[in-house]
Amino acid sequence: MKVYLDNAATTPMAPEVIDEMSMVMRDFYGNPSSVHLFGRNAKGIIEVARRKIAAIINAEPKEIIFTSGGTEADNMAILCAVNDFGVERIISSEIEHHAVGHTVEHLEGVKIDWVKLNENGAVDLAHLEELLQSGEKTLVSLMHANNEIGTLLPYHQVRDLCKKYDAYFHSDTVQTMGHYELDVREFGADFITCSAHKFHGPKGIGFLYVNKDLKVSPLIQGGAQERGLRGGTENITGIAGLAKALELANEDVQEHIDHVQGLKSYMMEQLTARIPDVQFHGETEPAKSLYTVLNVCFPEFENKSMLLFLLDLDGVACSGGSACTSGSSTGSHVLRGIGADINRPNARFSFSRYTTKEEIDYALDVIEKVVLGKFVNA
Ligand code: PLP
Repeated sequence: MKVYLDNAATTPMAPEVIDEMSMVMRDFYGNPSSVHLFGRNAKGIIEVARRKIAAIINAEPKEIIFTSGGTEADNMAILCAVNDFGVERIISSEIEHHAVGHTVEHLEGVKIDWVKLNENGAVDLAHLEELLQSGEKTLVSLMHANNEIGTLLPYHQVRDLCKKYDAYFHSDTVQTMGHYELDVREFGADFITCSAHKFHGPKGIGFLYVNKDLKVSPLIQGGAQERGLRGGTENITGIAGLAKALELANEDVQEHIDHVQGLKSYMMEQLTARIPDVQFHGETEPAKSLYTVLNVCFPEFENKSMLLFLLDLDGVACSGGSACTSGSSTGSHVLRGIGADINRPNARFSFSRYTTKEEIDYALDVIEKVVLGKFVNA
């Protein structure tokens, strides 16, 4: 059996999305900037997609800027806040995705304050307020859900603090867009970001939402695409796939939540019963934790450095840290950021609406075999 439990890294594409994209690829090959019929038809695909997406997240179409994915959208939000609004200081956290963390660290002449976190990666709101009181022109950049440990941001409180102290608010919603019903008006951030491949859409496409009251300039210079805010011939196939994937995700989002949360809770119960001294990183209470992610800390065992390899050998795909960093030797910056014992073996299992209980049962048997050296059914 092959079990894919690495859906926070990327998800398999929905067949409906593949159909939609194939249709667009075949029938809408005009350049959207061309004024002839072929171009106008291609442009139509983009604008229909933009309107669909905007309606789903309660935004206005002009608030959506298509990008090459979450990384570009995060970069654009941060660089716009600095270059266009004169932000002098950024408040962020040490467990942000590198799309935010590295962008912030590469800025010159901008002060960075790291907000304190508790041992589960939850933001210390009192410390955030203390930092905001200094009065500098500030951008707060805090992710909605952490991609490695799943801890959710209490965004209502962060939004209210940003309003109170007149700070800009950016939230990386890459792991939550398409997984919760997200309403940008209620969320209250100036910028949020999206990546289609996290919810059964294609890779290499996403968007940045920018509140309509803000005037931003492009990160990528070039033609007048995206109302002059992002040069380059649009990824029309990707845009159509993104809109379709978000539409599908939104159709029965509560059903997905119930299904996946059920699998996650079951896996936690079973691991606790079967593996002595197993622990979980990040918040575990469903209201405070992203239901698609489970970060497990295992007891020491002889072949611990081979954990992911051995799981993979038996057909269980998961990751240690995020996919982007799992090849690096420095370990997870997120686990270090919350002060976890990074020498203990750990793995992130992440689920999707396609994951089944049979797959979880198989994975549990393989985990028991690898960690405890027991030969169960696997
Ligand atoms: N932000 C978070 C929280 C992510 O998990 C990812 C993807 O791993 C990104 C940003 C980057 O998105 P993309 O792969 O579309 O560039």
